[in-house]
Amino acid sequence: MKNIYDYTQSELESFIQPSFRAKQIYHWLYVQYLQDFDLMHNLPKDLKAILKQEYRISHLEIIRVETSSDGTKKYLFKTQDGHSFESVFIKMRDKKLDDNGKVIEGEKYTFCVSSQIGCKVGCAFCFTAKGGFIRDLSAGEIVEQVVWLKKDNNLLPEKRVNIVYMGMGEPLNNLDNVAKAIRILGELNGLSISARRQTISTSGIAPRIKKLGEMNLGVQLAISLHAVDDVLRTRLIPMNKAYNIQSIIDALRDFPVDARKRIMFEYLVIKDLNDDLKSAKTLLKLLDGIKAKVNLILFNPHEGSEFQRPDMEQVKKFADFLVQRGLLATIRESKGIDISAACGQLREKTLRDVSCETDRIG
Ligand code: SAH
Ligand code: SF4
Repeated sequence: MKNIYDYTQSELESFIQPSFRAKQIYHWLYVQYLQDFDLMHNLPKDLKAILKQEYRISHLEIIRVETSSDGTKKYLFKTQDGHSFESVFIKMRDKKLDDNGKVIEGEKYTFCVSSQIGCKVGCAFCFTAKGGFIRDLSAGEIVEQVVWLKKDNNLLPEKRVNIVYMGMGEPLNNLDNVAKAIRILGELNGLSISARRQTISTSGIAPRIKKLGEMNLGVQLAISLHAVDDVLRTRLIPMNKAYNIQSIIDALRDFPVDARKRIMFEYLVIKDLNDDLKSAKTLLKLLDGIKAKVNLILFNPHEGSEFQRPDMEQVKKFADFLVQRGLLATIRESKGIDISAACGQLREKTLRDVSCETDRIG
């Protein structure tokens, strides 16, 4: 059976007559978060019967939710074919000025979604990599993660969310499905999450970065750089042998960047490996001439990992070095650290301990 979350509004319009029905269905699916055709009361009975015959709405089941003391929630989903993968719901405090210049406190939401079950890239520091690669997620399975996270957290439809493709998998190894999900999530009668608020994070597959640029989706880009010399980068990300640092920088030259935005370079800081100021200096040189910002991520250790978490003092020195020389640099806030909300860690834990049904931690 077809997955209804797999289709853009115009595709549904071409399948379902009269075409305004597609807009109504979109409203039920993405604004009301309905998962039952029978409840879509403005659709005629015969259309509901056809829809029920041809399409299925929900293809994912939430099998576990872990809540961190900081409000971050990690969701473990099960697919129809019995695999599992995760998404992370991140809530952050947000301050804005109203029309009278008064500070209003609000909340900002970021959903970290998966693009694949497992990953082929095999980075040395990543827990997802340890489980190998199982399969790509379909566009519908990517979209459904967002629907569930909004629905399960009772977020009003108009509540703005940001999407980051930083869960499990390498999004550019599943580019067609990810690109389609970006379009579906952006549909104005649906979730209306513009591509500008969606960020693809990639380990740096140079030709696909070029292709993504040519697709001109308007999506934001984050590059997992992690090292400034090819020897270390190849040790961390074996694929660097095929697509080295220079080839990534070259692929970025023509990438369309929104006038108010920058390309984000993620730099996973690992103790005594890449946390020295000499590396910071090389990084500065490397990014010269690129509209860049750097996001420093503290390595999150997991069982059996050969690397160590860096000292915060050293990471601050690294960031200050860049900022003082005019490069925008931030340190990623550690959200959900008590539930290991970094890349791929929940799935592994549950696979080993299937009887653990913890709903709330922290
Ligand atoms: N495959 C893509 C997107 C998913 S990984 C990529 O590599 O960019 C998303 C982010 O999680 C990457 O920046 C990666 O470096 C980070 N990550 C992976 N393992 C981590 C760990 N143990 N600690 C902290 N961040 C980690
Ligand atoms: Fe794959 Fe990203 Fe993990 Fe590397 S860091 S193995 S590319 S998910």
